[in-house]
Amino acid sequence: MTSERAVGALVAEAERRFAERHPESRKQLSMAAAFMPGGNTRSVLFYDPFPVVMARGEGCKLWDLDGHEYVDFLGEFTAGIYGHSHPVIRKAILEAVENGLNLTGHNVLEAQLARVVCQRFPSIQLVRFTNSGTEANLMAVALAKAFTHRSKVLVFEGAYHGGFMSFGKNGHELNVPHDYVVGSYNDIEGTSDLIDECAPDLAVVIAEPMLGASGAIPGTREFLGMLREKTRDSGALLIFDEVMTSRLGPCGLQALLGVQADLTTLGKYIGGGSSIGAFGGRADIMNLFDPRQPNALHHAGTFNNNVISMAAGIAGLMHIYTAAAAQELTQRGEMLRQRLNALCVGRGATLQFTGIGSLMNAHATASPIVRPFEPDEHQQAIKSLLFFHLLERGFYIARRGYIVLSLPIDDHDIDRFVEAIDEFLILHEHLLCKGDKGLIRARHR
Ligand code: PMP
Repeated sequence: MTSERAVGALVAEAERRFAERHPESRKQLSMAAAFMPGGNTRSVLFYDPFPVVMARGEGCKLWDLDGHEYVDFLGEFTAGIYGHSHPVIRKAILEAVENGLNLTGHNVLEAQLARVVCQRFPSIQLVRFTNSGTEANLMAVALAKAFTHRSKVLVFEGAYHGGFMSFGKNGHELNVPHDYVVGSYNDIEGTSDLIDECAPDLAVVIAEPMLGASGAIPGTREFLGMLREKTRDSGALLIFDEVMTSRLGPCGLQALLGVQADLTTLGKYIGGGSSIGAFGGRADIMNLFDPRQPNALHHAGTFNNNVISMAAGIAGLMHIYTAAAAQELTQRGEMLRQRLNALCVGRGATLQFTGIGSLMNAHATASPIVRPFEPDEHQQAIKSLLFFHLLERGFYIARRGYIVLSLPIDDHDIDRFVEAIDEFLILHEHLLCKGDKGLIRARHR
C-alpha cells in the first residue's frame, strides 16, 4: 500500500473508532441540525465525522457527553486561560450578578478594566470595549480610515481578524468590503514595495504579530519593525491584532518584540472567559470617540460594558494573570514546545511545533515555516491522526493542530501530553520518516 493510501486508511479507521466511542455526541449533533445549519453555530468547532460535544468542564479538565475525560489543551482558543472554574473568576461574576446584571448606564467596572488594560499594555493609552475580537478589529480599522481620511487597508494572506476580515482559505465572501491590499507575511521586501505603491491612499496596515489561525507562525522582529517604520513614514496607521498574542510575555507580544503599534486589538482571556473585545492605542486617535467633542465618532454596543465581562476581566488581570504569571506561562509554553520539537528531531519525524510561549501549532513538515501554507493531503491526514490519537488518550486540541496552555495545566499534564506525542511518533514512524520530505509543499512567494 502506498503511504498516501495507508494514511487515508488510518484516518478512516480513526474516524470510525471516534464515531463508535461518541454515540451521544452524534445524537446531539443530529438533533441540533434540526434547528441550526449542520447543528453548528461556530464554524471552527466543526469537523468530520462530527465534532465532540462537551458536557462539563472543571480546572483544565473537560468531559464530553459520552463521559470521556480530557485535559483541555485548547483553552477556548486562548480565551479560557483561567480554566473552567477558577474560584476568583467565579466569585467576581457572582458578585457582579448580585449587584444587578443590566445596569443600563455607565458602571464603575468598565473604568477599572480600562485602567488595568492601559497599565498592562504600553501601546494602549486609551481603550474601548466591544463584545468580541472581531468587533474590535472592525472598529480599529474603521477608526484608522476615519483618522487618516484614506481608504486602503493592507492585510496579510492567511491573517484572521475575525469572521468579517479573514484572509485564509475560508471566509472571504463574508468580509467587510474594504479596499484591501494583500501582502505576504514575513516578506519584508515585497510588503515594503506594496506600502510604497499604495502609500498615498494607505490608511492602515493590520497584522497579527504572530499568525494564529494560520498555524502559530511568528512574525519576525525585522518584518514587524519594517511595518512600523514604513507606516510611520507614509502616514498610515499600524494595528497589531493581539487578540490571541496579548497573553505572551508580561505585556503582550509587541512589547516582547519592542515594536509598538498605533492601535492594538485585544479579546479572548481579557474578559476572564466571558465574551469581550477591546481596541485601544494612541490617545490622539482614540479621542475621535470622545463624546464630549463635537462630531465625535459613534461607537455603539449594548453589551460593551456588560458587568460580567468587566468583573471577570478585572479579577483575571489583577489577581490571576498578572504580568508575572504571564511571564511564567510563556516560559512553560516555550519549554513544552522545545521538548516536542526535540522529540520530533530525535525521532527524525517530519513533524514540528511552531509558536511562541503558550501558543503552538503542529505542522506535518520539517521545513522551516515563515508564512502560511496549505497542508497537502498527506500533511492534513497526519494532523487528523494526531488529533484523534490525542483525543483517544484524553487530550483535547484543535483538529488543525492548535495547542494552547491554560493556567491550571500542571507539570504532570504536560509530561503525559509529551508522552502521548512520543507514542504517536513511534506508532506512525513509517509515515513521518524523513523520506516523506518530497510531500512537503510550503508555498513560498
Ligand atoms: N483576531 C485574532 C487574531 C483571533 O485569533 C480571533 C479569534 N480567534 C479574532 C480576532 C476574533 O475574535 P472573536 O472570536 O472574539 O471575535
